[in-house]
Amino acid sequence: MTALPQERRVVTAIPGPKSQELQARRTAAVAAGVGSVLPVFTTRAGGGIIEDVDGNRLIDFGSGIAVTSVGASAEAVVRRASAQLADFTHSCFMVTPYEGYVEVCEQLAELTPGDHAKKSALFNSGAEAVENAVKIARAYTKRQAVVVFDHGYHGRTNLTMALTAKNMPYKNGFGPFAPEIYRVPVAYGYRWPSGPENAGAEASAQAIDMISKQIGAENVAAVIIEPVLGEGGFIEPAKGFLPAIAQFAKDNGIVFVADEIQSGFCRTGQWFASEDEGIVPDLITTAKGIAGGLPLSAVTGRAEIMDAAHAGGLGGTYGGNPVACAAALGAIETMKELDLNARAKRIEEVMKTRLAAVQEKYDIVGDVRGRGAMIAIELVKSGTKDPNPEVTAALAKACHSVGLLVLTCGTYGNVLRFLPPLVIGEDLLNEGLDLLEQAFAGV
Ligand SMILES: *Cc1c(COP(=O)(O)O)cnc(C)c1O
Repeated sequence: MTALPQERRVVTAIPGPKSQELQARRTAAVAAGVGSVLPVFTTRAGGGIIEDVDGNRLIDFGSGIAVTSVGASAEAVVRRASAQLADFTHSCFMVTPYEGYVEVCEQLAELTPGDHAKKSALFNSGAEAVENAVKIARAYTKRQAVVVFDHGYHGRTNLTMALTAKNMPYKNGFGPFAPEIYRVPVAYGYRWPSGPENAGAEASAQAIDMISKQIGAENVAAVIIEPVLGEGGFIEPAKGFLPAIAQFAKDNGIVFVADEIQSGFCRTGQWFASEDEGIVPDLITTAKGIAGGLPLSAVTGRAEIMDAAHAGGLGGTYGGNPVACAAALGAIETMKELDLNARAKRIEEVMKTRLAAVQEKYDIVGDVRGRGAMIAIELVKSGTKDPNPEVTAALAKACHSVGLLVLTCGTYGNVLRFLPPLVIGEDLLNEGLDLLEQAFAGV
């Protein structure tokens, strides 16, 4: 197999005829509840390119939702996972263990914030990791309440639907939801009524007041927060917010859980986004970027908290599958070797410079934000802060039609988010931004 050329190429309409044929088969066979951002059917992907069945090559600003940070066919991931596949596909770690699982847990202990004794448990999906973090925090504290935040996203299983803020499409019609979940404000700087400079202090005070008065801090097992909120709109909580919540948790024996499923593993230019304000989470959940595209997730944290769940209380048939563990070791090796934190910071520099120019020119760009290769623009109606989901959808569509894959997000559906693979070439990155500028000129 030859290397995938790192060049955009549009040879048909997007989606092209072969993709449309496959889409018709898909519609007949696949449940309607499973959506797709852009129904072009993939044949190959790697670096910053996705190739489709019609021979088009799209510039990838999505990474399969922040997963393929090392690329979708990274050499070390393919090599290690292939070797593992040939040796054995599965034994179940709960039946007969294997070294790869242990090695991933050792890497997690080394790479996550804090130099305390740490342990990990491995699972398959992000939602599963979050569920297990709740189980562990409840077992450790012998308390039940869980505090989450406005605009938070934690998954689609029953417990994580309850933890997730947004109704459509994640929750609507799928209740009843798990009890003992409480939601408090987050410091969303751009939309904070008294301005971003007050958001950190005011939002943390409000959140702490609500926890103290409405729930009782002594009843709270865990607070769970994304250090940069993902699906909710790439919201970086205003400075001071995370440290205040972490300190409150510490003072009250509450387990502080950082959900770094989207923000972790070099995505924001640091191994974990918590590091930005020196936060040391008690527990940290990871998934997405961890294994170069294979399904793997983890809960990592203070050894005494992780050990609170009784033997047999955690696990699952496939959790920490050996092929996924081999892939994770390949992905981590790639992140270190290529210094992908530095690459993410460079992506931020290029993107923010160019997006600031777009913001100068178009007053529908309300905010440009994010860190590393987790960058977004929030779109509003001219001269207001009213969300503009229509123009957001139109921009995404215009980008797709010329071969630039972008994603949207946000509670109001008005955020364009950019999550390129960290290994994307700078020429492709700039070409993608050229296409985005042209899309703005067109709407
Ligand atoms: C994607 C995501 C999840 C859920 O992960 P799945 O693998 O889709 O279950 C949880 N938390 C955050 C912050 C995420 O971005």
